[in-house]
Amino acid sequence: MAAEYRVLINGELCESATRETMDVINPANGRIVGQAPKCTELEVDRAAEAAWKAAPGWAETSPTERAEIFFRMANLLRKHRQEWARLETMQYGGPIFKTLNFDMRFDAEHFEFMAGVGRAVTGATLPVGPQAMSMTIRQPLGVVGLITPWNFPLVTAISKITPALMMGNTAVVKPPSCAPLTVLKLGELAVEAGFPPGVLNIVTGLGSSVGEALVRHPYVSKINFTGDSETGKRILALASAAVKPVACELGGKNAFIVLPDADMEPTIEGAIWGGFFNSGQNCGASSRYLIHESVYDQFVEKFVAAARMLRVGDPSNPETMIGPVAYKGHRDNIERFVERAKESGARLLLGGERPNTPETRDGYFVAPTIFGDCDPKSELMQEEVFGPVVGLTKFRTPEEAVQIANDSRFGLCASIWTRDIRQGLVMAKQLKVGTVWLNQHLSIVFECPWGGCKESGHSKENSIMVLDEYSMMKNVWIDLVGTPSTPWQGRFQGGNRLDAL
Ligand code: NAD
Repeated sequence: MAAEYRVLINGELCESATRETMDVINPANGRIVGQAPKCTELEVDRAAEAAWKAAPGWAETSPTERAEIFFRMANLLRKHRQEWARLETMQYGGPIFKTLNFDMRFDAEHFEFMAGVGRAVTGATLPVGPQAMSMTIRQPLGVVGLITPWNFPLVTAISKITPALMMGNTAVVKPPSCAPLTVLKLGELAVEAGFPPGVLNIVTGLGSSVGEALVRHPYVSKINFTGDSETGKRILALASAAVKPVACELGGKNAFIVLPDADMEPTIEGAIWGGFFNSGQNCGASSRYLIHESVYDQFVEKFVAAARMLRVGDPSNPETMIGPVAYKGHRDNIERFVERAKESGARLLLGGERPNTPETRDGYFVAPTIFGDCDPKSELMQEEVFGPVVGLTKFRTPEEAVQIANDSRFGLCASIWTRDIRQGLVMAKQLKVGTVWLNQHLSIVFECPWGGCKESGHSKENSIMVLDEYSMMKNVWIDLVGTPSTPWQGRFQGGNRLDAL
């Protein structure tokens, strides 16, 4: 019997009213890992109401009190690190080296980081003259709805939950249907760590029912969404009916630009990491490589040789670098991208076929796949594949590289590989993306803001700036003299206002 998990509503771990469940499948072998409640609008309504009732009390707690609970959460996450990393690996296929050393570390540290920066929030005083004082204060929004994807199931949820709660909001979280189990486990920890009932609520179910009900719910003041650009557009449209703000972190098609003077060894290492970490299922993955023509052949030879060495297989083996992709439909979709790329005339340099070893036979695996000589306007170079499939093309000048990189509907991130930092900075300013790395790819840390432009979204995650996404800036004006401070104000006093005008 597969383990059954519970949602968290008003401090209680419960089933859905219909008792229906969704199977969560291990993509490495097709077996059931666990069952999550298949909630409906009813649970969204209960969760939103609980969050709404808890909001005034939580907003009154001090940042220090919130931080104490956050530190307890971090300690509990560390205590369960091994077990949770295994569960994360089983539910979506991320290799254990990643879920244990990266995800679980980030999960605990995120609580600690936000416990710190959330206590350092400041406002401003504004220059309004000697007769008054004006200041800005940051206030919670109320109930926020947090909708998250499967590619970093727990990390993404925690990166939204921590700033939301630290700023005094309450939250309803909707994790992805195919990989909700670690977020449901987080609900159990939230009870143990002592969050008051209703402050954090977690509901699972389909995006089309539970996700949309959360977006539409009148008690929810703001949605923070990470996921596919098309889903983001749908949520923005739904929320616009109530003029509800939506913070969006969406897809990417990120350029990896290699200049002629790049130091080749670290560049190849960065290219492997950028393209294939987490089987390429990263919004920030380097999925199109723009290589200067003078080093193109050298890059191709070394890149293909390095990618050939990546161990593809059982993600619970610490040696595995490439696990399965998250679910069967996603694998099938990636394979269709590969077939169309072959038909488009791009040169297949590596992979392109389903791996077939005893370890991969029953799962949803895609071999690391590299296409060369790609047309920058082709589907492979324009659309997000979200798998271990990348395309290469040549450029002649830095201006041409920038032009190719910017010719995209996405604008999430890019990297430039060069020893000429001045040239790199010139290009960094010209690239229409939210993050540019020089001689790095995929360094996403708490300290730095993360988020894109164009169809990659418009909000920020991480850093102290994320706190702006979860609070409202209020302006407070204080009259200091008790007499009129504007030329027309006195004319209203004691008389008919319209007459005075
Ligand atoms: P998705 O859009 O299919 O699903 C994301 C979440 O939205 C899930 O919880 C899903 O159930 C929910 N959802 C789906 N339809 C909905 C609807 N109509 N209304 C409300 N909620 C709905 O995305 P995914 O496949 O889970 O994740 C992969 C995508 O996420 C990729 O495009 C990737 O680039 C993007 N992503 C972006 C970032 C970033 O920071 N920019 C980070 C991670 C992932």
